[in-house]
Amino acid sequence: MRILIAEDEEYNQMVVQAMIELLYPDIEIEMVSNGAEALDRLKNGSYDLVLSDVDMPVMNGYDLLSEAKKIGIAIPMICVTAFAISGDKEKLLMHGFERYISKPIDMDDMKAVLDPYLLGEH
Ligand SMILES: [Mg+2]
Repeated sequence: MRILIAEDEEYNQMVVQAMIELLYPDIEIEMVSNGAEALDRLKNGSYDLVLSDVDMPVMNGYDLLSEAKKIGIAIPMICVTAFAISGDKEKLLMHGFERYISKPIDMDDMKAVLDPYLLGEH
């Protein structure tokens, strides 16, 4: 299993990576810092899951998702984000993110969301 993570803030990159390594020691993790880099990786590699931040420079999470869909990439994408305003959650799901994980990340929440994807039953 291989997971692609798009997150622009270094601290958040470390937190997400550390949590996933703890929860799923056998999963291979690739980290990029914006949507454009993520799209590039998706075009050239195979992944089982994408975790993406929303607010990122160059290309944000929404655009990453819609660009990936346009070229037929059908990997499940989960959003990791802080919710600023009410309605954000609905907006994310409407855009096609399958699930979301709220920042600051609670490890139990993350496990509940990711288990079905990474332990093979969703
Ligand atoms: Mg960000």
